[in-house]
Amino acid sequence: MLIKDSIKEIKAIAIAVADLFMPRRCLVCGRRLAVEESCLCRACESDVPYTYFWMLGRNQMADKLNALVQRRFEAESPAGGFSAVGRWPYEYAAALFFYSSSAGYRKIPQALKYHADFPAGRRYSRRLGERLAGSCLFSDVDMVIPVPLHWTRRWRRGYNQAEVIAKEIAGALGCRMRTDLLSRPGRTRTQTKMSVEAKGRNVAGAFRCRPFGGVRHVLLVDDVFTTGATLNACHAAIRAALASAGISPSECRISVATLAYVGRP
Ligand SMILES: [Zn+2]
Repeated sequence: MLIKDSIKEIKAIAIAVADLFMPRRCLVCGRRLAVEESCLCRACESDVPYTYFWMLGRNQMADKLNALVQRRFEAESPAGGFSAVGRWPYEYAAALFFYSSSAGYRKIPQALKYHADFPAGRRYSRRLGERLAGSCLFSDVDMVIPVPLHWTRRWRRGYNQAEVIAKEIAGALGCRMRTDLLSRPGRTRTQTKMSVEAKGRNVAGAFRCRPFGGVRHVLLVDDVFTTGATLNACHAAIRAALASAGISPSECRISVATLAYVGRP
């Protein structure tokens, strides 16, 4: 206990000394951080706009995703397809916090995606994982799959931000993360300024998934949920891979989780 306390004290002194030369700042408001604070100041930390979607089977994020899945399913199976043997399951979806382009919290996923700044991304991904682990909707997830980047983009960036998030979530859920199943052979254009329809067309068919089985609940992970077009395209690829292994939608659920959700409470 004494050794632990001493290590804590030495750490605090080291942080205080480092802060003198290179002050750490709150990622959200830019205020100088106190020694005991990390990533966010106390005020911003207590103000995180949590969605609480992990507690709600139906929420605006899941509704958006399910509308896309349903539309795709109807286009693919006009004669009934799976609906002939059962109802298409409503997929679950959760994000940790709301993402507003005018609020500072957007800087958490941006720091992870554009600046290779991992501490805050990892910290809030782990928190999302803990919320999911404590939720009766997500606690049975037995495989986590991050949304892949095209290899050229990954090579240029050096990492995939969705994988950083997924790793923390898988750790909190106590299940495996697989990065070898879902791939993105198609190089798509950056979607930042595209309309919903254009985004859908841009990513449709961009993903491939190797057949797999032996799981009951897959969690697909990305950094930010905007229109759901990317996650819908990944969902299609995973669903096709499960179908080729003889696994129906009622036998394996596919849920999605992101760090942030673009929308308002
Ligand atoms: Zn702050």
